[in-house]
Amino acid sequence: MNRIGVFVCHCGLNIAQTVDVEKLANIISDYPGVVYATNYIYMCSDPGQDMIKEIVKEKKLNGVVVACCSPTMHETTFRNTVASVGLNPYRCEIANIREQCSWVHKDKKIATEKAVEIVKATIEKLKLDKSLIPLSVPITKRALVIGGGIAGIQASLDIADSGYEVVLVERNQSIGGHMLQLSETFPTLDCPQCIATPKMVQVGQHPKIKLLAYSEVEEVSGYVGNFKVKIRRKASFVDWNKCTGCGLCVEKCPVRVPSEFNELLVKRKAIYTLFPQAVPNKPVIDSNNCLYLTKGKCRACEKNCLAKAIDFNQKDTFVEEDVGAIVVATGYDLMDKAEIGEYGAGKYKDVINGLQMERLLCPSGPTEGIPHRPSDGKIPKEIVFIQCVGSRDPEHYYPYCSKVCCMYVVKQAMLYKNVVPDGQAYVFYMDIRCDGKGYEEFLQKGMEENKILYLRGRVSKLFKDGDKIKVWGADTLTGRKIEISADMVVLAMAVVPSKGVKELARKLRITADDYGFLTEAHPKLRPVESLTAGYFLAGAAQGPKDIPDVVAQASGAASKVDSLFSQDVLYHEPIIASVDEEVCVGCGNCVDVCAYDAIELDLRTKKAKVNSAVCEGCGACCAACPSGAMQHNNFSKRQIFEMVDAFVR
Ligand SMILES: Cc1cc2nc3c(=O)[nH]c(=O)nc-3n(C[C@H](O)[C@H](O)[C@H](O)COP(=O)(O)OP(=O)(O)OC[C@H]3O[C@@H](n4cnc5c(N)ncnc54)[C@H](O)[C@@H]3O)c2cc1C
Repeated sequence: MNRIGVFVCHCGLNIAQTVDVEKLANIISDYPGVVYATNYIYMCSDPGQDMIKEIVKEKKLNGVVVACCSPTMHETTFRNTVASVGLNPYRCEIANIREQCSWVHKDKKIATEKAVEIVKATIEKLKLDKSLIPLSVPITKRALVIGGGIAGIQASLDIADSGYEVVLVERNQSIGGHMLQLSETFPTLDCPQCIATPKMVQVGQHPKIKLLAYSEVEEVSGYVGNFKVKIRRKASFVDWNKCTGCGLCVEKCPVRVPSEFNELLVKRKAIYTLFPQAVPNKPVIDSNNCLYLTKGKCRACEKNCLAKAIDFNQKDTFVEEDVGAIVVATGYDLMDKAEIGEYGAGKYKDVINGLQMERLLCPSGPTEGIPHRPSDGKIPKEIVFIQCVGSRDPEHYYPYCSKVCCMYVVKQAMLYKNVVPDGQAYVFYMDIRCDGKGYEEFLQKGMEENKILYLRGRVSKLFKDGDKIKVWGADTLTGRKIEISADMVVLAMAVVPSKGVKELARKLRITADDYGFLTEAHPKLRPVESLTAGYFLAGAAQGPKDIPDVVAQASGAASKVDSLFSQDVLYHEPIIASVDEEVCVGCGNCVDVCAYDAIELDLRTKKAKVNSAVCEGCGACCAACPSGAMQHNNFSKRQIFEMVDAFVR
């Protein structure tokens, strides 16, 4: 027999202003199965919860409906409340009369009628709710971090310092990411190599960190607390255990190809390390450009290697790691210049992007910090910076703000003026967004002390004019047309997710937005968690960010991993799918639609089987099942029909 209590919350005036809460409680008190109904200003407050507990005991309730805000907000609160007085928590239901009623209506009469319907339907569902018990699963207290930029480095160190093992997978031959390419870092102008390399060395030396450089994640199976990860260790053609890092192989290699680390501004060899402070500091052979691997001749590196470390027979290998949590920190790339027709479409050597300018301004870069024009090596005397190239341009490219450009442009213009005092820097901008600590002061300093000329407006065209780049634009503040004969142009290209992230997200079963940035579980309240349990996000992989924000987010993700690992077992929601084997026809529709790989067809019985620990309870399989064999605990088809009946009755 049902003994249901209904508790209507005012949520201050959030609900009570639009829904007649007293009338609602009165009407519902007569509904079949309800033995008690009341209303209160804040049900989630301590007195509100105490009242629920008292009534559950006093009236011997076997089910509770709280009519309040969305279950995302307080479902857990009220489930815990009833559980504390012995009622099964899954016999507590939330009727959402705030987001789905009071907030979307103005007319009190209509809103009250709708609230009554919502509560009645919820009562009907509750009548068929089973008492459920959460599943408990053990946790493997080891983490995987994907991406070894500053985000991955920080997350790995924080987790490892808390005493848990970390497997850090980096696809390049060294960790460091883009931070190691930068000249100096705003707003304090410190040397990124000086502040990042100690952390890189700590990663390399940390007894709890297993660094797998030159590696990529191939497959992930399992679920929060118990993932199995297959990792491809790419063939480097160098036995890193034997290599002493003497550099003779690099010296003797006759091949010269554009260096990716130096943004194609200078050449590297076919056997190369990424940069002098690389961790690990071991070379790899680029199989696309090595003379021996492409044409079968040369072997200069092998002949000169005293340690006999060159191994042209090396193949990709695979390792498997068991981990309980995964931090994704795959970072960003810059949009390709060739996509921007109006700015020379990548044709002009002296039109470069922001990272190329970082390399030119970097004291350890190819021009030792004094920018030289890529075309002829001359020191540029007039430089034009163009902001928002590809960003904030919903009609043609990306609608979002790339966040770091306003700051790095002022930094680069300042550094340029420091080394070329008689040079002039112009900046074309739409708006200037310098919203971090000390950022506005940094901008003012750049404008005033370095006489950087800021021009508000878009550049309409740039084209080659002898050895100059002619820049046509408009200053929208004065209404003047602007024409500058520049020696060099720096495009602040849109920040985009790093290559391959969409495929990686698919492998990991996490979601990415339309542009490929990984999506967080909640933009405000769960910004470092993915929607898929056990995955955490760090750094620019989740959206454009500067280093302080990246580091803060990485530490946030690490602390989430730590709190997960602080438990001995994980409790998994029992509101998941289950199969009625008598009814299942083995069509496999459920397997196809399951985004979490939680269902498989038993080859012997030809029946679907749900892995309860992996199922996230999304319900897609139940909707796709033609025979009704797939049912959702406490969301059965019968419950849904009863709810619909309550609405239309
Ligand atoms: C021109 C420019 C100048 C800047 N200047 C500043 C500045 O002065 N101050 C500041 O605060 N910020 C600056 N920034 C921003 C700064 O670069 C970023 O905030 C920071 O580098 C982001 O770190 P990250 O670790 O998230 O990403 P990244 O640095 O991009 O690192 C990601 C790492 O993941 C690896 N990876 C990617 N995919 C995979 C995969 N599938 N498997 C394994 N590994 C993978 C990559 O190889 C890389 O090592 C600048 C940005 C630009 C474009």
